[in-house]
Amino acid sequence: MHFTIKPDNNGLPLGKLNYIAAGIAAVLSVLLIYATYRTMNGFQISNEATENYISWEHSATSIMEATDYLSEQTRNFVSTGEKKYIENYFVELNVTRRREAAMAALKGASSYDMLEDAMKQSEALMSLERYAMRLVVSANNYDLDEFPAEIQEVTMLARDATLKAEGKQTRAMQILLNREYREKKEALDADLRNFIQEIEDESRDQRSETMNRMHYLLETQRLLVFALIMLFALVIMMNSFLIINPLMKGILNIRTEQPLPLSGAYEFRYLAVTYNNMFEASQKKTSDLAYSASHDKLTGLYNRVGYDNLLKGEEMQTSALLLIDVDKFKHINDTYGHDMGDRVLANIAHVLKDSFRSNDHICRIGGDEFATIMVDCGPQLRDLIRGKVERINNKLLNPTNDLPPISVSVGVAFGSEHEGSTGSIVKDADLALYQVKEHGRCGVEFFAPALAAAAASAALPDGETR
Ligand code: GH3
Ligand code: MG
Repeated sequence: MHFTIKPDNNGLPLGKLNYIAAGIAAVLSVLLIYATYRTMNGFQISNEATENYISWEHSATSIMEATDYLSEQTRNFVSTGEKKYIENYFVELNVTRRREAAMAALKGASSYDMLEDAMKQSEALMSLERYAMRLVVSANNYDLDEFPAEIQEVTMLARDATLKAEGKQTRAMQILLNREYREKKEALDADLRNFIQEIEDESRDQRSETMNRMHYLLETQRLLVFALIMLFALVIMMNSFLIINPLMKGILNIRTEQPLPLSGAYEFRYLAVTYNNMFEASQKKTSDLAYSASHDKLTGLYNRVGYDNLLKGEEMQTSALLLIDVDKFKHINDTYGHDMGDRVLANIAHVLKDSFRSNDHICRIGGDEFATIMVDCGPQLRDLIRGKVERINNKLLNPTNDLPPISVSVGVAFGSEHEGSTGSIVKDADLALYQVKEHGRCGVEFFAPALAAAAASAALPDGETR
């Protein structure tokens, strides 16, 4: 079965909405993944900044310690004259090289130029220290060749070279204690402290900036997760309102043989329209089938099946049954042909319909046999029935068109006169009809018990009908 069905365009298109929701969910998920990635990145950056700060601070402290160590060794040598302090000094300077190692480690630091300045101060300090040491070497009359080249290369000022041992010793002490040395040392320490302060500030700024960014990212993630949850809730609600609910209602309707409601999503409405079309067509087909099963094609009256159903269903107790047989109908067929016979039958049906009330049931129960069930009709209406049959026969015997004249014989039985089954009323009406035929046709006869007795005495086999 094919239908051309136009969808009902009122509902929301759930399929499209689901696609849109899936698209939004995909975009939100990508954003969420990106925000998570950025947060992890932020953690890494913050970690690196902290590690850098620790390592740079350690290196700067190491420079400070190294310069302190060099000053201390110089002071010790100057005050004691013991050579081991000079050795310690040069081991630090040329072997341990803490300052150089620290400077290499600090290469990436942003305030590196401050350190370069500190290193210059340190060099200047060392040159003063070497000069002081050279004076002490000379004051102690040590062999200059025993000392590193850095000491040997120092040239004493003429006024210092001429000093006595004690004077040289005092001069060396003065160099280490005088203003120039102190200022240089303080400047060096200040440079290093400033540097440490600088990298600490920088690290704190960087950490706080990273924290702010991470805070923003975490807030964004929270919003994205919330949006995703809301989206899923919306999709569930949408599917439930637009499909599941109408579907459940629709199932109830199908069970109770009703059309589907036009509600919910566009897709469901489309299905409902399609189903309803099919439902209507199927109902029409069923009622057409039921009609053609119970009606006669030629006359449009109830057929034998319809008649039997009416006999079962009607309150026959309060009805009259009229069995109507066309008189000498064979003769019509034989004289005018079968087609004319059919037209005569159709005309009789027409006349019968005209002659009874609309709630009476008129049936064609055989070839030229008709029946009328007159509802709410008892024996007191005998005359009325007689009059009706007379008028029917008058019409049939005096046709106004090209049809041949014809008459009918009618046997009547009343339900109220029988206590028994519907079967007996049919038999009684048939007996009455038989009487009419016997007495010359074209008339009406009512069943009476005397008729039954006469029939029995004529030894008519029980239940025989014509
Ligand atoms: P009677 O007065 O005794 O009833 O005589 P009758 O000729 O009518 O006899 P009967 O009732 O036995 O004959 C019925 C005839 O009706 C037999 C058959 O040829 C004819 N017939 C039955 N069905 C149809 C039909 O559908 N169309 C036509 N044209 N004739 C039919
Ligand atoms: Mg007949």
